[in-house]
Amino acid sequence: MAIENQILTVHPNLKSILELSKTQLLTYLEELGQPKYRAEQVWRAIYREGRTSFDEMTNLSKDLRGLLAKNYSIGNATTLLSKRSADGSTDKILFKLPDDELIETVLMRYEADGHRKGRKTVCVSTQAGCALGCTFCATGQQGFRRNLTTGEIIEQVLTMERLARLEDQEEINSGKRSKGELQGVTNVVFMGMGEPLANYENLIESIRILNDPIGIAVGARHITVSTVGLVPGIEKLANENIQINLAVSLHAPDNETRSETMPVNKRYPIERLIEACQYFVNETNRRIFIEYVLLKGQNDTSIHANKLGELLKNLLCHVNLIPVNPTGKGPYRRTGYKEAQKFQSDLKKFNVPSTVRMEKGIDIDAGCGQLRDRALALEN
Ligand code: SF4
Repeated sequence: MAIENQILTVHPNLKSILELSKTQLLTYLEELGQPKYRAEQVWRAIYREGRTSFDEMTNLSKDLRGLLAKNYSIGNATTLLSKRSADGSTDKILFKLPDDELIETVLMRYEADGHRKGRKTVCVSTQAGCALGCTFCATGQQGFRRNLTTGEIIEQVLTMERLARLEDQEEINSGKRSKGELQGVTNVVFMGMGEPLANYENLIESIRILNDPIGIAVGARHITVSTVGLVPGIEKLANENIQINLAVSLHAPDNETRSETMPVNKRYPIERLIEACQYFVNETNRRIFIEYVLLKGQNDTSIHANKLGELLKNLLCHVNLIPVNPTGKGPYRRTGYKEAQKFQSDLKKFNVPSTVRMEKGIDIDAGCGQLRDRALALEN
């Protein structure tokens, strides 16, 4: 179907072009009588160059640009709130989706240190709300709304990528960074609102788009999927043949303690979860990150640390100890840094490596689901 044969009507609800896979984009453009390379041009313009309108794609004919604009938008989320932490390291955006659902995305900036280069990590949401009901989590307290589409997941990264590149450019202009050092987003973590493995197909498709070398091109090893332990999803992910990182939110060393805060543990108890983790390590040769939110008096004693060491001593893993970011509603208090260090030294006895990770962006409620919570509170 050639362009001139299309009826150029304005669609009342334009579909986001970010919903199209590369193959679907190719098929669509071929149906318009366009040569094969056109799909790559459009793809590159959206994902590599970060164009926000078809009008800016001046290597396309005017007719094609007009047709694309009549039929598609480049994303369809609205920025409702945007906040920056006092130290400037973290930005958080609250997006409104066309059906009024609210989701959050966080950009975290890390300066280079002796061991690692500077990086910009985006934390994305995969669901509006969440069905899994972890008691320490603001999103869990809101209940499940719906899965996000692939385009909605990708749009979060694209928005942050544009921001990150703008900053890079400003630093280049002011001489802080050398020319050609446009870095943009370097890492993506699926750790925002929702359980990524409960939205499996859209998660995998968005990883493929992020990883595409002529797009945003985030390396697979710089992508982390965080799960509360959906065992079938972990096993499926192990078989995907993509070298991404897996982070498992464990948060307790035994079933009794874990079930108190994470209802998912009744469906997939710790023994099953550790088996699935072992399977992931065997299949991918990748070390697993174990996330352990420290809740004062709940799971942060020496007894818990010793149990955790025993549980993980044979698993190729690294434990991130995270003193909890209180929601303001829940009954939990933050474990102090000293106690966290004591926990860490207990783990060391089992040769289980760990890091105490103080969360970024606490002054902007950058914990899971908290900005949305605050915005809703303001609306009520
Ligand atoms: S921690 Fe994650 S899985 Fe648990 S309720 Fe919150 S969003 Fe859902």
